[in-house]
Amino acid sequence: MSRFRKVGVVGLGTMGAGIAEVLARGELEVVGIEINEDALARGRGHLEASTGRAVKRSKLTGEAQREILGRITLSTDFQDVAGCDLVIEAVPERLELKRRVFAELDRVCRADAVLATNTSSLSVTEIAMTTNRPTAIVGVHFFNPAPVMKLVEVISTVLTDPEATAGVVALVEGLGKTPVSIGDRAGFVANRLLLPYLNQAVALYDSGHATREDIDAAMKLGTGLPMGPLTLSDMIGLDILLEAMEAIYTESRDLRHVPAPLLRRLVTAGLLGRKTGRGFYTYEKPGSAVVRDHAALPEAVEVERPLVGVVGSGDLAVGIIETCARAGAEVRFVAGDDTKVKAAWLALEDALEQSIAKGRIDELSKKAALERITGSPEIGRLVDCDLIIEAVAEDVSVKRSLFATIDDVAKAGAILVTTASAVPVIELAMATDRPAAVVGLHLPELPGKLAEVATTVVTSPEVAARAVALIGRLGLEVVRCRDRAGFIVDALRFPYLNDAARMLEAGYADADSIDAAMRLGCGYPAGPIAELDRLGLDRAVRVLRALYSEARQAALTPAPLLEEYLIAGRTLRS
Ligand code: NAD
Repeated sequence: MSRFRKVGVVGLGTMGAGIAEVLARGELEVVGIEINEDALARGRGHLEASTGRAVKRSKLTGEAQREILGRITLSTDFQDVAGCDLVIEAVPERLELKRRVFAELDRVCRADAVLATNTSSLSVTEIAMTTNRPTAIVGVHFFNPAPVMKLVEVISTVLTDPEATAGVVALVEGLGKTPVSIGDRAGFVANRLLLPYLNQAVALYDSGHATREDIDAAMKLGTGLPMGPLTLSDMIGLDILLEAMEAIYTESRDLRHVPAPLLRRLVTAGLLGRKTGRGFYTYEKPGSAVVRDHAALPEAVEVERPLVGVVGSGDLAVGIIETCARAGAEVRFVAGDDTKVKAAWLALEDALEQSIAKGRIDELSKKAALERITGSPEIGRLVDCDLIIEAVAEDVSVKRSLFATIDDVAKAGAILVTTASAVPVIELAMATDRPAAVVGLHLPELPGKLAEVATTVVTSPEVAARAVALIGRLGLEVVRCRDRAGFIVDALRFPYLNDAARMLEAGYADADSIDAAMRLGCGYPAGPIAELDRLGLDRAVRVLRALYSEARQAALTPAPLLEEYLIAGRTLRS
């Protein structure tokens, strides 16, 4: 049980009011301080509205609401926190303002009181040094909305007394939240991993790599995130993102953390996201739903379901064959020899059995899917195919000569597709006599809903539109991008995963804390360390090397920890 019985909250805006509510729900006595009577009335309004909503949804009784509000005393006089055991500051994110507030708290609070800041991006150490009790200063970073979000990052500086931290951790646990204990680093864990990913998504959009809709759809469908990075940036507020990236860059001096130029332009133009009615998207009115605007989407074309050829017999090839056949397409696959053809058949039957076990299909659909597939070692069997997908091992010279062969047998008008991830699509396109008819395809998850289609500098617009339509007929949601390493999903998720691995390597936070921070603070379906193990360290290292070789940014080199565990044949969590 926590030793804190009476807790002060300074600033009753979005966060302070939420924190005061959480504390009062936890049966603590709360003193809420605001700057003047108007702000105090707004703070009271936040508290009444939030608990009122809970009553309306029958999550709280009217009586419980009265009790909660009855535990909160509101005041504009700092002197009223004099008797508090702990005070949490939640005033706007400006260092000089926070320093003034802490100097005042230091003056009025008891000598044994702990003082905490809810800052998202300022240095807790700098704030602590304003006071005469730097050992009693901690960071306690709640997430918005505080009554709902389970994660609380508890930050200790090099000076913080472990007992002060332990007291805050116990309090947070007592409130039914999950505390994550970490050191004082810009962005802590969750924002340090999330915001650079958002900033990179903005830069990717700004470079013309893909449309905002495709970037958002790719990350939602490809990684199971609740929303795409540009939608989330609009929601957070582009001014907040810009300021936080400045703070992270100031500390890291990593060029990837320089705020994306487009972010700064939008903020200068007053287009701050949902709250102002426009950011990356346009909203009906501030805070409302997205409306269609000038950034028109490409026209869709009508096509018949394609006859698909697949070259390869490994896991990826089998996954593609299964996906196509289940969507109703006829598939001809070509493997190296009869033994490989047989092995691929067995793997296909196995994959379809697993789909039955998971309740995705029934016996009849399995039988029908298998009847649509034929396998052979003869590449000439691909002569009638509309779409020929190469899914052989990641070896550039093998792929290049295979593409030349496919080009020889494919009919005129066929589209050739590569699943290469470590070599640019254009290299394979140039190995054929029809470079305009070659595109790249990534399926970030198998089985999955998302297909990323990359076009090169020579892909014809007609081929691009047809490829998107044909792949769409295979039951996949298609997003388009340029021919760049990682397409969209891998280009955005592996740098984020690598950052998490570096955080683990540096001993800044342990695997459980990092994973909990991203799941509970940012809505990720799985934490990054668990995700690295699931995707495979070999894949992580391969994709990061490809990203590095294109961008030559040191931070994109695989974290040595990943290589070490990979060589040792171990997972990060084993
Ligand atoms: P806000 O602007 O909604 O609220 C700040 C409140 O502080 C206002 O009500 C203001 O009247 C009051 N205030 C200003 N000066 C004061 C003073 N001298 N004394 C007492 N009260 C004063 O801001 P917010 O979004 O609640 O953010 C507060 C803190 O929480 C910031 O440090 C922010 O970085 C952090 N934070 C915000 C979020 C978020 O999503 N909004 C999430 C986590 C942390």
